[in-house]
Amino acid sequence: MERTNAWTKYDEKTVADVMRTASDYIAFLNRGKTERECAAQAVEMAKAAGYRDLKDVIREGKALKAGDKVYWLQMNKAVLLFHIGKRPLAEGLNILGAHIDSPRIDLKQNPFYEDTDIAYADTHYYGGIKKYQWVARALSLHGVVVKKDGTSVPVVIGEDESDPVVGISDLLIHLSQEQMVKKASEVIEGEKLDVMLAGMPLSGEEKEPVLKGLLKILKDKYGLEEEDMLSAEIEVVPAEKARDYGLDRSMILGYGHDDRVCAWACLEAQLKLAGTPEYTCATILADKEEIGSVGATGMQAVYFENALAEIMALCGEEGNLALRRALAGSRMLSCDVSAGYDPLFASAFEKKNAAILGRGVCYNKFTGSRGKSGSNDANAEFIGRLRKVMDDHQVFFQTAELGRVDLGGGGTIAYICALYGMEVIDSGVAVLSMHAPQEIINKADLYEAVKAYGAFLQNMGPRN
Ligand code: MN
Ligand code: MN
Repeated sequence: MERTNAWTKYDEKTVADVMRTASDYIAFLNRGKTERECAAQAVEMAKAAGYRDLKDVIREGKALKAGDKVYWLQMNKAVLLFHIGKRPLAEGLNILGAHIDSPRIDLKQNPFYEDTDIAYADTHYYGGIKKYQWVARALSLHGVVVKKDGTSVPVVIGEDESDPVVGISDLLIHLSQEQMVKKASEVIEGEKLDVMLAGMPLSGEEKEPVLKGLLKILKDKYGLEEEDMLSAEIEVVPAEKARDYGLDRSMILGYGHDDRVCAWACLEAQLKLAGTPEYTCATILADKEEIGSVGATGMQAVYFENALAEIMALCGEEGNLALRRALAGSRMLSCDVSAGYDPLFASAFEKKNAAILGRGVCYNKFTGSRGKSGSNDANAEFIGRLRKVMDDHQVFFQTAELGRVDLGGGGTIAYICALYGMEVIDSGVAVLSMHAPQEIINKADLYEAVKAYGAFLQNMGPRN
């Protein structure tokens, strides 16, 4: 059984629509290189689409009703969107969930030091990366420094054309005889991922003059003391902008497709819902997926459940039983990227169960590793109903596993939401070079994801 390449069925008008969708996404990606930046953009987009802050609604004690739209911002790093439907919430919601954190390198809390006339920042990487991919390339700094008085200083250095960039050095090939025979996991070690920040001594300083020069810049330009780094979150990310990839412009090269491509597709589908939906539609943009969905902004925290409880109370559906029914009766697409089939690494896949670029949005019944360990195994009954919604709305889709059996594996937020007893399946866009500083997607898959998510929100119904 082979699935269709979506491009082969597009007419001229659709191709133009695909290209327009891709440009909108590229703009989002270029303004969202961290979870904080993505969360801020999501809130901005939601407000423009008529969403109100749930915290304000609670404070004002106002009731909510069908057609109302509210958002919840969790610690500036995760976002929930709710568009209240005609049916009681206890009949379950249609939920999209993606994550907005991506693999990166974080500055440590005591980061700065000088060695041999160079000032560095010490780092700790975040998520699964091939460390050797992050050296000898332009990197930028993004984040916040929070001072003792609570003021938050935003930092973005290396994005503007006139900005300087930073980076991590690699050893010259001429002296790499020993490095070249090392295992790839040891070629660049975690503690060696230190970012070069400065190389000019501050005149008149005897001890660590380059470091002193760096600290003077931080003080003069940002009003920061070295000690302020104790309460900072500075992320080191690729400085390149996302852009069209391939001579036919069919693809997009960029940092953070995992999982901002699905996050953006969810936003598009949720914010552009026409009219009042039958069932309440929700979108979850979670943080910390790349390190196990931990912490107060990760999917394991119960802010979604709490926000839903607040909304149900404001809708006059108070009580624990109603909340449990709403959660257990919900339908969810866990929207996360899938491993795209790469002909150059064919042996990593079993081809007829691999996600192929251009063949549409991808559904993964299983993720996990070895004997499906750690997987969410979507129910066949749910997939049957989902197939009908996809076919009824002419969505190009494919099904896939995450690579060849026993080769590796991975997880998403699907298994966490499934704990409520809701129906959940993984659904996303196929990516090449996943977790590399520059990842690749096909524009047709992004377009079909937006279509799929919209059709799901509007048309998915409860199990019998
Ligand atoms: Mn992901
Ligand atoms: Mn990932």
